[in-house]
Amino acid sequence: MKITDHIQKANGETLFSFEIVPPVKGKSIQELYRNIDPLMEFKPPFIDVTTSREEYIYKEKDGLLDKKLTRTRPGTLGICASLKHKYNVDTVPHVLCGGFTKEETEYLLVDCQYLEIENVMALRGDARKEEKYFTPTKGGHQYATDLVEQIQNINEGNYLHDSIESTDLNSFCIGVAGYPEKHMEAPSLQSDLKRLKQKVDLGADYVVTQMFFDNQKFFAFVKAAREMGIDVPIIPGIKPIAVKRHLQLLPQVFSIDLPQDLIDAVEACNNNKEVRKVGVEWAIQQSKELREAGVPVLHYYSMGKSDNIEAIAKELF
Ligand SMILES: Cc1cc2nc3c(=O)[nH]c(=O)nc-3n(C[C@H](O)[C@H](O)[C@H](O)COP(=O)(O)OP(=O)(O)OC[C@H]3O[C@@H](n4cnc5c(N)ncnc54)[C@H](O)[C@@H]3O)c2cc1C
Repeated sequence: MKITDHIQKANGETLFSFEIVPPVKGKSIQELYRNIDPLMEFKPPFIDVTTSREEYIYKEKDGLLDKKLTRTRPGTLGICASLKHKYNVDTVPHVLCGGFTKEETEYLLVDCQYLEIENVMALRGDARKEEKYFTPTKGGHQYATDLVEQIQNINEGNYLHDSIESTDLNSFCIGVAGYPEKHMEAPSLQSDLKRLKQKVDLGADYVVTQMFFDNQKFFAFVKAAREMGIDVPIIPGIKPIAVKRHLQLLPQVFSIDLPQDLIDAVEACNNNKEVRKVGVEWAIQQSKELREAGVPVLHYYSMGKSDNIEAIAKELF
């Protein structure tokens, strides 16, 4: 079922969902199941599965370092299929511009059609680790708008090199990213919102936001988006802080601010067990206020262990 249909069917009730990251190559899927099992009690209608960009690694060969391109966390679509089958839940693969040609993206989307995966999250992806700025893959897309366009074309039966007059396949429901504190490369929040509006005008059906820790930023973002005519559901993304290092890492990687009260509470912790508790409590307060404001879904970023998401869900769902 499409995410937008899940939202409509919920009739104003806030839904629970979460995002997972595929395991490192070579690790069994069983550990992923062990982390997901306790969360299924809260009946998520959908689970997102991220896609990681390819990266260069260096292998020693004959005394020289050999540069190789690899993906350390492949398997997004396989995981989506497994979770859908095991838990009877909708899964949302993240589809990236970076690292994929348009043809590869088309094959992936065709696989999604046969797996009856009806939702995809269309993203540009970040620059590769060794790059300062994102450069499109040869034969791939530059911006998420281009990817949305390709998916929407497929919805209309227009594949890259063929047009199918009447397709009997489900169309994709398309999610895109939004940034309450603006995307790090955007010159202003207003110009970033214009780009978001373009994604919606091209066919995006809903928005999931980057993590944020101050709900006022989310509320202001939604207000500005609505004023600009973005009228699709906007789903807040929430991440509970889990380790002290997040105080530096999250602002650096995601270009977001942390409220001083949260920083003070984390800094006062003696160990990461205490930090995890602070992170859960903060996320619970955030979630309660967001639910009160009528958000359609509370979407949690779970990286690895899910005990903190479970603790939050217990309080809310
Ligand atoms: C909910 C969510 C899930 C994510 N999942 C993943 C994942 O699974 N894997 C992963 O690698 N990354 C993921 N990301 C990170 C994302 O790939 C990065 O934030 C990336 O840098 C931007 O992606 P985007 O889709 O927002 O890009 P875009 O919408 O293309 O925007 C990128 C930048 O370009 C600007 N822009 C857009 N269109 C134009 C244009 N036509 N001309 C000029 N400027 C333009 C925008 O303002 C913005 O600054 C996720 C992010 C979010 C919020």
